[in-house]
Amino acid sequence: MEKMREVLPPGREILLEAKNVKKYFPIQKGFLRKTVGHVRAVDDVSLTVYRGETLGFVGESGCGKSTLGRVLLMLAPPTEGDVVFEGESLLRLDPEELRRRRKEMRMVFQDPNASLNPRHTVQRIIEEPMLIHGLHSSRKERLEKVVELLESVGLNSSHLHRRPSEFSGGQKQRIAIARALALRPKLIIADEPVSALDVSIQSQILNLMKDLQEEYRLTYVFISHNLSVVKHISDRVGVMYLGRIVELTTKEQLYRNPLHPYTQALISAIPVPDPKPVRQRERIILKGELPSPSNPPKGCRFHSRCPKAMDVCKSVEPRLQEVSPGCLVACHLYGT
Ligand code: SF4
Repeated sequence: MEKMREVLPPGREILLEAKNVKKYFPIQKGFLRKTVGHVRAVDDVSLTVYRGETLGFVGESGCGKSTLGRVLLMLAPPTEGDVVFEGESLLRLDPEELRRRRKEMRMVFQDPNASLNPRHTVQRIIEEPMLIHGLHSSRKERLEKVVELLESVGLNSSHLHRRPSEFSGGQKQRIAIARALALRPKLIIADEPVSALDVSIQSQILNLMKDLQEEYRLTYVFISHNLSVVKHISDRVGVMYLGRIVELTTKEQLYRNPLHPYTQALISAIPVPDPKPVRQRERIILKGELPSPSNPPKGCRFHSRCPKAMDVCKSVEPRLQEVSPGCLVACHLYGT
């Protein structure tokens, strides 16, 4: 079982913790739907989210980062382990208490087309969570709140009675963010929130999210396959591979001096905008395909693709350990 060895930095307050979280999905086959195995989407992950920070997660498609986001909000309850929000185990809450806690933890999804009801007006979309959770009981109060939220995401009252199809992709994501803010959450988990948008719009939404973080004192968990996007917004970054965190550290450390060979390969593949300066690092091309999360390799899960693999890597799984203050790595090269 993975043990978290991170030391709480001075002055930081813990908002959310995942403790040895696993999320397995059964693989069923045949007429009787017999379970023949499990997809280990998240496999023994422990992490801490500090109040007010943005913790980014990156990794290839299928590494488990989106499932992890859903588990942290209990939208997909963990198979094992615990999620603790403000010191309270979410697993131990009864449905009513969990509903109350959910007001404080909201999600923004990748595709606003799928998450916004096309038949509803913007006003209805944003006020719906308030109605469900009994916030702002008078109609007038709710309307004022909806207009305030629209203005804080760069829209205005002229948009109230329009439907999602009348907006661009970036505007739809602004509406989705306004809806997420309607209950004054403490934590927002954003799963690929800019991936469906044009590059020129992406930075506008990222900057908006940064501004809103200050204005609403938000904490973000930001999930993306795009390392440049994660770099733009995150304070710390976790790198996931086959359901596990392989490196978790500050943004500065990760992008300047990545330690895990998988992180090194990911960082080396980031396009360089100006080719004039000589590239500090050569691009590392990973061999082979991503193994199946239903049957991860023994030992280090990355050994079949790692350019630095040693014999020990084939049989002993490295632990995620703190190798310098605030820098966690799971790799035998660092004595784990
Ligand atoms: Fe590579 Fe071994 Fe480190 Fe895994 S433990 S990343 S195989 S060197």
